[in-house]
Amino acid sequence: MPKYIFVCGGVMSGIGKGIATASIGKILQAKGFEVTAIKIDPYINVDAGTMNPIEHGEIFVTDDGTECDQDIGNYERFLDEDFSTLNYLTTGRVYQAVINRERNLGYQGRCVEVVPDIPNEVISRIKKVANFSKADFVLIEIGGTVGEYQNLLFLESARMMKLKEPKNVLFILVSYLPIPEKIGEMKTKPTQTAVRLLNEAGIQPDIILARARVPLDEPRKRKISIFCNLNIKDVISAPDIESIYEVPINFEKENLGKRILEKFNLKPKKSDLKEWKKLVKVIKNSKKSVKIGIVGKYFESGKFTLLDSYISVIEAIKHASYFFKRKPEIHWLSSQKYERNQRNLQELKKYQAVIVPGGFGKRGIEGKIRAIEFCRKNKIPFLGLCLGMQLPVIEFARNVCGLRGANSTEFNQKTKYPVIDVMPEQKAFLKEKKYGGTMRLGAYKCQLKKNTISWLAYGRKDYIFERHRHRYELNNEFREILEKRGLIISGLNPEKDLVEIIELKNHPFFVATQFHPEFKSRPLRPHPLFRELIKKAIIPH
Ligand code: GLN
Repeated sequence: MPKYIFVCGGVMSGIGKGIATASIGKILQAKGFEVTAIKIDPYINVDAGTMNPIEHGEIFVTDDGTECDQDIGNYERFLDEDFSTLNYLTTGRVYQAVINRERNLGYQGRCVEVVPDIPNEVISRIKKVANFSKADFVLIEIGGTVGEYQNLLFLESARMMKLKEPKNVLFILVSYLPIPEKIGEMKTKPTQTAVRLLNEAGIQPDIILARARVPLDEPRKRKISIFCNLNIKDVISAPDIESIYEVPINFEKENLGKRILEKFNLKPKKSDLKEWKKLVKVIKNSKKSVKIGIVGKYFESGKFTLLDSYISVIEAIKHASYFFKRKPEIHWLSSQKYERNQRNLQELKKYQAVIVPGGFGKRGIEGKIRAIEFCRKNKIPFLGLCLGMQLPVIEFARNVCGLRGANSTEFNQKTKYPVIDVMPEQKAFLKEKKYGGTMRLGAYKCQLKKNTISWLAYGRKDYIFERHRHRYELNNEFREILEKRGLIISGLNPEKDLVEIIELKNHPFFVATQFHPEFKSRPLRPHPLFRELIKKAIIPH
């Protein structure tokens, strides 16, 4: 019988629930169990595809092309498993399925009600994941905070599941304990309030992960134990730490895995966090750094820098850097400053490698093109991702092939040289305003050209599969002139004859991909292109 662990947040959001869920998965996996996970986002959006990354953070893409919450990325990275559309639920998805079924007479004429039909749909989807994955544990992270109107139906689903299978369902609350600066004392009240709110929904947490700036002391643990009605051993201290990859190890210090298994009456089959611990040692002990510049635009929201917009890129850089026992030092370079003053470009020389990540819309484009030109001419190792491939093509067309004004039709529909253009089937979507879930999404095959940097990086494979999220493509009409002038097309999609990777000769490392390699990088298996970029960054050239 699969076991279900619901993870929900206290009264504050943004406290690392996703990492906590992924880490619980990791420690159960290390004990020899099969683990899968589901992320529930309580919003109406059917998926994350139409959301602004500044508001929502990165839109993660799975192999099957689901545009989902970045936590799915955390799960994939921690568990080293590929997830699919089944692992992601939103209010919109659930309602859409119920309404569609109602329209098809799937409820055989009866009145369809919010309760119990919505929770029943949620439960059936959770069960489907259990059946499909054959996992021993299904972790279900309920997004948002307790007491929010939006996640009540999901808590209700969890409660109903517990009622039916009390022995197979466990609740974990991730709650934050603030230390107000003036008082200097850790406060347990918000956690007590969170538990009350959960109790109102008919749920008693079995375990509390107490997030705080520092570890919890005994008196605090005792207080939570008494007022929140659980064994003191089930109050797990989860202090802030330097690296997210240390979280599973910290949980284990507090015996979290053991407590979970005991509650389900299970015994560990093995205990194997060896490789993971080695990685954390490298993370903590690496002295030398590698300095990477990321030229982009989704960095600023008022006074805050929202690094969440590029989380998979950051993690991929980390994985590759750790592989070479280096500490990555990532600098955010807003491309618009290169538009304001070209002299600002000189700062790029300070970096051992430059990355231009994906993006949408016109703002900052010309600045990125200038940065790319600078990296090409000054032989700075460069990796471009998605939009970061389209822009080097534009730069090359303009400055090497002499196609003045070359552009993508995303930014200038009337350009004389549309070197990047929208696919015919995409044109129809745009005309009908069908934006949601219609891009070129998910894993596609890419054939590698022999003896190229990419082919060597991927271990001389003929074919690879990588994940996409874009509407525009390199326009095949310009392939001949680009290639004639020295652009190397090192990856092609054989079915549609679309350019997937470009690279340059006479440059230490200049590679750009139409796909997003960052989505497939894993802590213990860095992505080959990121690995090669870092390798070139740290050896003198
Ligand atoms: N805006 C570009 C497109 O739609 C690139 C998208 C991206 O970088 N993910 O094709």
